[in-house]
Amino acid sequence: MGLFSKDIKTVQDLFVHQLQDMYYAEKRIVGALPDMIDKTTSPQLRAALQSHLAETRNHVTRLEKAFKLYGTEPKSVDCPAIDGIIEEADDVAGEVADKAVLDAALVAAGQAVEHYEISRYGTLIAWAEQIGRNDIAQVLRDTLAEEKAADQKLTSIAESKVNRVAV
Ligand code: ZN
Ligand code: FE
Ligand code: FE
Repeated sequence: MGLFSKDIKTVQDLFVHQLQDMYYAEKRIVGALPDMIDKTTSPQLRAALQSHLAETRNHVTRLEKAFKLYGTEPKSVDCPAIDGIIEEADDVAGEVADKAVLDAALVAAGQAVEHYEISRYGTLIAWAEQIGRNDIAQVLRDTLAEEKAADQKLTSIAESKVNRVAV
């Protein structure tokens, strides 16, 4: 369903659509992370991705909680944005032979995913507040904090190791 679909008339409709979009995106990320974990040769990056995989499974659960609080069934709508980010990461990672360079590519891909999520959760929280659902905003804030921490972790891995080995 496109963003300007006729079914979206109110901020409430937009909010639910964006929840459905993130429900799709988080499940897509749960599917993509094991592949990234397999590809990396950095123990530090592997550990970071593994712990974020566990967090991401919980992001799916939190979205189900958000749907429930809102009084609607969990549902996914296609998110071409996350599909594109993950497809691009697969393409780039598939072309890199050098292991250190591959790790740098994986960090970059991971950060693109986190930045997308940070942007979307920031908007969802603002809309939840706007429609008077601070209870739902609070659930989403817990996830946003973990996305930001994951992004920072990837930055510190890149700065400390992955990129330096790659040059
Ligand atoms: Zn997430
Ligand atoms: Fe999306
Ligand atoms: Fe994430």
